[in-house]
Amino acid sequence: MNADPNCIFCKIVAGQIPSKKVHEDELVLAFHDIHPWAPVHVLVIPKQHIATLADVGPEHSALLGHMLGLAPRLMRELGVDNGFRTVINTGRDGGQEVYHLHMHVMGGPRPWARG
Ligand code: AMP
Ligand code: ZN
Repeated sequence: MNADPNCIFCKIVAGQIPSKKVHEDELVLAFHDIHPWAPVHVLVIPKQHIATLADVGPEHSALLGHMLGLAPRLMRELGVDNGFRTVINTGRDGGQEVYHLHMHVMGGPRPWARG
């Protein structure tokens, strides 16, 4: 699968950097964010390296739908039953720090550390 050897999330996909996995299938990986903003904070990433949401095309529609559709299922499995927030930061002005597409999914009782 398309990978960038310098990308931290590609290294997580390859198992070269450890993560607290919550879900894995042929298309995506989901794991706990290392600096959670909320009681439950997971990242859903494609296994293939796509730098940002600005880089997706029509060929990625099924992948994006799969990522979004996983959010409610993961939150349910993690015991989040009162709503959750989904965020995709894109590019510099979007506040993106890791340039491998990822969707934040956050839930749990407030107050949260951020947001
Ligand atoms: P963003 O600003 O959307 O690019 O957010 C990147 C997120 O990745 C931040 O919330 C970081 O805490 C998280 N992160 C960075 N490195 C790791 C890692 N090794 N394992 C889990 N989460 C990470
Ligand atoms: Zn990557």
